[in-house]
Amino acid sequence: MFERTKYFIIDMDGTFYLGDGLIPGADECVRRIVESGRDYFFFSNNSSHSIETVRARLEKIGFPVPREKVMLSSYVAALTVKRDYPGKTVYLLGNRNLYDVFREMEVPLVQEDADIVMLGFDTDLTYERIRKAAHMLANGAVYMATHPDMNCPTPDGYIPDTGSMIELFAASTGRYPQVLGKPMTPTVDYLTETLSCTRGELAFVGDRMETDIRIGTDHGIPSVLVLSGVTDEKTARESSIRPDLILPSMRELISYL
Ligand SMILES: [Mg+2]
Repeated sequence: MFERTKYFIIDMDGTFYLGDGLIPGADECVRRIVESGRDYFFFSNNSSHSIETVRARLEKIGFPVPREKVMLSSYVAALTVKRDYPGKTVYLLGNRNLYDVFREMEVPLVQEDADIVMLGFDTDLTYERIRKAAHMLANGAVYMATHPDMNCPTPDGYIPDTGSMIELFAASTGRYPQVLGKPMTPTVDYLTETLSCTRGELAFVGDRMETDIRIGTDHGIPSVLVLSGVTDEKTARESSIRPDLILPSMRELISYL
């Protein structure tokens, strides 16, 4: 199944780790991917993290990686703006980590009358920011969002993620954004451009049907669902989204490498 695969694109939460612990066998699977002559990258839709916070977490659970192994929807978003709307201004709903990415990528950020409203996982969201963004959307600004996840798992339970914010703005303005993270095409383009590879050389591994698996099924790319996170076997079997493989965890992927 993975004869053509050069790069495994691995989700983190629920796939590689859960809370503060590594999922047993996931580290061994990544080592075996590398031993098999392939490579791996972690890709998270969570645009409230920085690469450094993700790296620190991986290091804490005993799997230190170099910076370039961590990819975030934040970079897909910043690069898509730069490529599709060069020079246009952005009103960004996000926390400091997301602002840092957009500044690093030299995207012009403004607080009033932006050409583009970019909705990220704004863990510092205030009513003032909601008001401003809704006003700009009503005035016809281009509308984008970093990723579609409704909820984000935390050790204390689910918290509302960007998808829930999308619904809030839809209720108020009637508008839905162009979404950029998994499962959308801009993420596939980002990966093939960054890794200088074809779509056929990628494979996705993850625990969430609507993002980690759908990005594969929508783009003709192999996908592996692991049941170590948010999806249980019954939901997987009943879903209209069909991964190429359904496995208990990454540990079982080793025998397919
Ligand atoms: Mg996940």
